[in-house]
Amino acid sequence: MSKSVAVIGAGPVGLAAAAHLLERGLEPVVLEAGPAVGHAIRQWSHVRFFSPWEYAIDQAAARLLEPTGWNSPDPHAYPIGGELVERYLEPLATRTVLRDRIHTSARVTGVARVGFDKVKTRGRAEAPFELRYRNGAGDKTLRADAVIDASGTWFAPNPAGASGLPAIGETEAATRVAYGMPDVFGAHRSRYAGKRVAVLGAGHSAVGTLIDLAVLARTEPGTEIVWIIRGEDPAKSFGGGANDKLVERGALGQRLAQLIAQDAIKVETGFRVTHINETAARLRVGAGLSCCGREVIVDELIVATGFRPDLGFLSELRLALDPALECPPALAPLIDPNVHSCGTVRPHGARELAQPEPNFYIAGMKSYGRAPTFLMLTGYEQVRSIAAELAGDVEAARRVELVLPETGVCNGPAEAQDAGCCGGPATQDASACCAADETAKKAGATGCGCS
Ligand SMILES: Cc1cc2nc3c(=O)[nH]c(=O)nc-3n(C[C@H](O)[C@H](O)[C@H](O)COP(=O)(O)OP(=O)(O)OC[C@H]3O[C@@H](n4cnc5c(N)ncnc54)[C@H](O)[C@@H]3O)c2cc1C
Repeated sequence: MSKSVAVIGAGPVGLAAAAHLLERGLEPVVLEAGPAVGHAIRQWSHVRFFSPWEYAIDQAAARLLEPTGWNSPDPHAYPIGGELVERYLEPLATRTVLRDRIHTSARVTGVARVGFDKVKTRGRAEAPFELRYRNGAGDKTLRADAVIDASGTWFAPNPAGASGLPAIGETEAATRVAYGMPDVFGAHRSRYAGKRVAVLGAGHSAVGTLIDLAVLARTEPGTEIVWIIRGEDPAKSFGGGANDKLVERGALGQRLAQLIAQDAIKVETGFRVTHINETAARLRVGAGLSCCGREVIVDELIVATGFRPDLGFLSELRLALDPALECPPALAPLIDPNVHSCGTVRPHGARELAQPEPNFYIAGMKSYGRAPTFLMLTGYEQVRSIAAELAGDVEAARRVELVLPETGVCNGPAEAQDAGCCGGPATQDASACCAADETAKKAGATGCGCS
């Protein structure tokens, strides 16, 4: 009998996983919480990808689509989220054999080993998995020999509070606080046009929203933009610029730098949000003591402080996660923004993503836990490798079949940066954060010193 594999989430990585599993002769079943595939991307359907189509399409998925007469997009064009859903995910889910494998409106609420609670060990590894899910008709159960959790992180945004907890008053001010990347030109235009809007965060989502607001301000008089960051140096968000192999990603930072130079955006640095109050139909966003700290008065706040994984429905499984990033421990040194990041993560797969619970994997955006800079291509390589591993093809699971584009960003020490982003990403050693680190470790040193 073929191995059955439950895939949680029908985003690009979950669907790619299903395509690879089918190619390997395994039996995937995809459970998707939303009413349609790509449910998370549909929430940011107006956002343009910074990577072109050639980096958005999984190879096994393309092989499924080809015989259907699929009109493959121009590999060098940049889709918006809605186009990715319409031109790639929907055809994949409706015109190929995946059609019969996907259950939508099926939210997974728990995963366990059949007959084994978390504590019980003997015989555990041989027991199938039990997935509990809700589909509007009560609780349902699905059994599977293996599970790939590709449920993303979009629906668990970080709060505004700098401590990681919601700021005092954040929940109460919900009508004036949005998370992620609201569509400031389209669906939410009236909410932001002519208003004073603060954007909190320093990553790509914040940068994209700031640029959109600046464009809105050109046609909507009275629109004012305040950028709030916790750090002291806005330039850290400008990215690799011309060195970024993803040209559009590099250009985003450069556009933001220009807008700041033109005073189109006011910047508040070193601002750690602690409380948010609604006063006289405006928002008072505060840092420090509520009596006498700093504050910014705005009409609206957009919180773009990243995402975190929802681990709640995995609580009956034995997981090993990095204590800070909540990602598989082997990935942490590659993606930890605290210590070092070439921004270019060495491709990795089943070996690095393995959990103490055999045959259970976290893949896709969720595999990065709280770390930023995940690329779809990384996820496609992850699930190619996991499918090979589950099919028993260990050699293919270990092989690296992907070269990721470099960001041109290195947060290591100056001497490492001079060496060209520490020589680029490491190629073999899973514990090495860059090529220089790998070489140093091979020579018996503890590392190159950048992490
Ligand atoms: C605004 C933005 C722009 C980005 N731009 C790029 C880019 O240009 N290039 C790039 O390579 N990457 C980009 N990324 C990063 C990443 O590639 C995407 O987020 C991508 O969608 C991740 O795919 P995924 O399948 O892992 O997760 P998702 O696309 O988030 O899909 C997860 C799916 O799981 C479902 N789900 C969640 N919980 C459950 C549950 N309990 N049960 C069942 N289903 C569940 C969700 O509804 C969703 O459909 C971007 C991310 C964001 C947020």
